[in-house]
Parts: sequence; structure tokens; C-alpha cells
Amino acid sequence: MLRVGFIGWRGMVGSVLLDRMRECGDFKGIESTFYSTSAAGGAGPTIDGVAHGLHDAYDLAALARHHVLISCQGGGYTTDVIGRLRQNGYQGYFIDAASTLRMESDAVLILDPVNLGVIQQGLHDGIKTYVGPNCTVSLMLMGMHGLFKAGLVEWVSTMTYQAASGAGAAHMRELLAQMAAVSDAVRPLLADPASNALALDTCVTETLRSGAIPSEHFGVPLAGSLIAWIDKAVEHGQTREEWKGFVEANKILGQQPAIAVDGLCVRVGAMRCHSQGLTIKLKRDLPMPEILDLLAQANPWVKLVANDKEATIRELSPAAVSGSLTVPVGRVHKLRMGPEYLSAFTVGDQLLWGAAEPLRRMLGILRQHLKA
Ligand code: NAP
Repeated sequence: MLRVGFIGWRGMVGSVLLDRMRECGDFKGIESTFYSTSAAGGAGPTIDGVAHGLHDAYDLAALARHHVLISCQGGGYTTDVIGRLRQNGYQGYFIDAASTLRMESDAVLILDPVNLGVIQQGLHDGIKTYVGPNCTVSLMLMGMHGLFKAGLVEWVSTMTYQAASGAGAAHMRELLAQMAAVSDAVRPLLADPASNALALDTCVTETLRSGAIPSEHFGVPLAGSLIAWIDKAVEHGQTREEWKGFVEANKILGQQPAIAVDGLCVRVGAMRCHSQGLTIKLKRDLPMPEILDLLAQANPWVKLVANDKEATIRELSPAAVSGSLTVPVGRVHKLRMGPEYLSAFTVGDQLLWGAAEPLRRMLGILRQHLKA
């Protein structure tokens, strides 16, 4: 039986992965072992009625017994423990959520609805490391899959509206604590029907600037505001999150020559769905019905939303999409700049297609591969 070790199963990505695996019956037919960096010897998850204990995630000999290791633990763990395991000659498959190994030449980025061919080539070539891509990049490619598949994209500009969950569980809690602090401050005014909007706004602004809003993790208020910077600075005035858009999208697609992908990544006060406004330069002018058809038919999860107010406000928002694998694409229309310039807006759950789902599906692909 395939022995699979799970590390980092109780974090944001790991717990969504476990939920999806339970839902899809993926634990049947594998021998699962759960590891922790902080609670070895404690109680682990219950799977199909069986309570699992927790093993030491630093025990290299125990980890090396597994045919497959799946880590949602984080980049530090990958560098330290998986690095040493590989140096010791571990030959098993490693599926990782962290960004550490993404750009290594012996690692494949996994988003199988878009790049199953690249994954299968990797398996055929004996590659043992498979890494989930950046969430924003995966969600952009899932939504725009039809245009990439048809080879129609000359370049893409991505302007993102990214959720708190992308920064981890503590940031989600902080966003809610900030919302609570603002609403506590404004409650007496809001309760008074005679208070005017200007007074409400002044109260909110003063609260946001007071320094009393919890901001240990974000550094500034996100609730009632936004943060136009994600991750650290890299070259050319970009942030690392923006840099990933180009390098990861092209690596996922196995694209040569590379397609330019660039833009600005912005954190907004959504919980777990990333949204993106896209400007796409097509290689040629195409009639709109053809474009819409390509987008709608690309994969089973993309859903075209009519470019009208009612459909857009009901279906194309984090509130509508959260917890769902559907990737809606709307606001699709040609731009004034010319007939090859297309606009689109897409939303996706960054913990599902953006993180856990490609890992879950990669385990399924591996199981098929190892059976064959
Ligand atoms: P996370 O929620 O911070 O969890 C990571 C690990 O922290 C847990 O598995 C757990 O490991 C430990 N931990 C310590 N205190 C915890 C607590 N109170 N609750 C839960 N876990 C706790 O991290 P994550 O967001 O899942 O990200 C994991 C990796 O995936 C990172 O490398 C991240 O960059 C990557 N990733 C994240 C996202 C995302 O949207 N969040 C998307 C794509 C990729 P122990 O049991 O060993 O203590």
C-alpha cells in the first residue's frame, strides 16, 4: 500500500487539503501518517473513523519510509528537513505547498487542469518534486485557461485584490479584529438615526489613524483600507508577489518564449478569495462570441458570468465564491485601446485552487502513475 506522510496538516492549507481529501474519499487505499513540528505524540486528525497520533516531523528516518510526503508546513521546513532528507538520498515523491522549491530545475509546478502534459512529462523524466504554484497565478491561469490554451495571449496585466488568507491564519484573525475595532468605535453614531454620513466617516478615519487598531501582522489597518504591497521588494520596482506572476505562469505552462505577465498586487479586506482585474493583449483580433466560447469551454471549473450588473454583483465576488472550486470570469469586453485588447475580472478561492486542490489532485495523479 502507498505510504503517504502528511506534514503541516493543521495549518490553513493543510486543513483545507484534509477536508477535500475526506470529501473525495482520497484516504482509501493509502497508509497515512501525520507529522507535526510542534505536537509530536499528541492527537492528530480522525480519518474515516480512525484517530491518528502525531509523529515527529523532524524524524528523518520515519519520513524516509514514505513513498510520498506532502508538506503544507512552510518554506523553512522544506529547506531544513526536506533538504536534509534529499541529501540523505530520499528517493520518494515530495508534494509541497511552499514556494521554496518552485523555481528549481528539478521541480514541476502543479496545476493539472492547465498543465497535465507538463506534469506527465515530469513523471516520465523521473522528477520527484511537485510544488503547488502561487495562488494568484493559479487562479489567473484557471480563469484565462481558454486563451492560453489557444495560444492567443501576447501579454497580461494583472491588477489583484488579494484576500487576508494569502498571508496565513493569523492575518485573517487580525482583519476581523480590525473590523470589530472599527465597528465598536462607530456603533453609537450608527445607532443614532440623526447622525450624518460625514460624522460616521470622520469617526472611522480617526479610528483607523488612531494607532489603536490591532495591526501586529499587517502593520497597518486593512479593514476599511487596502495595502498596495505584498511580500518583499525585488528588482525593477516589483514586489516578489508580482514577480511570481511572470516566472510561475510561464513555468506552469512550460511556455517558450515567455509571455509577459505583470501588474500590481494589492491586499484587500476579503477573507479567502483573490480577485483580479485583467487586461489582455491578444495576438489577433477575435470576435467576442469566439473569445467567450474559448473561455467557457476551457475546463470544468471556469464559469462565464454575463457582463451585466445583476450577474456581476451576484456571482463575481469573494462572498459568492468563497468555499467553492468554481472560478467565475466576468466583465469580459474589448477595450478602447483596440480590438486586440480585452478586459476580464476573475475571482477564486485561494485556499482551494490557489493552494490545497492542486496538491490533492497531484497525489491522485501519482497514484495512477505508480499503478501503471
Ligand atoms: P499556517 O496556517 O501558518 O500553518 C503552517 C503550520 O503552522 C501548521 O501546519 C502547524 O504545523 C503550525 N501551526 C502553529 N500554530 C498553529 C495553529 N495555531 N493553527 C494551525 N497551525 C499552526 O500556514 P499556511 O497558510 O497553511 O501555509 C503553509 C504553506 O503553504 C506556506 O509555505 C505557505 O507559503 C504555502 N501556501 C499558502 C497559501 C495560503 O493561501 N495560505 C497558498 C499557497 C501556498 P505543526 O502542526 O507542525 O505545528
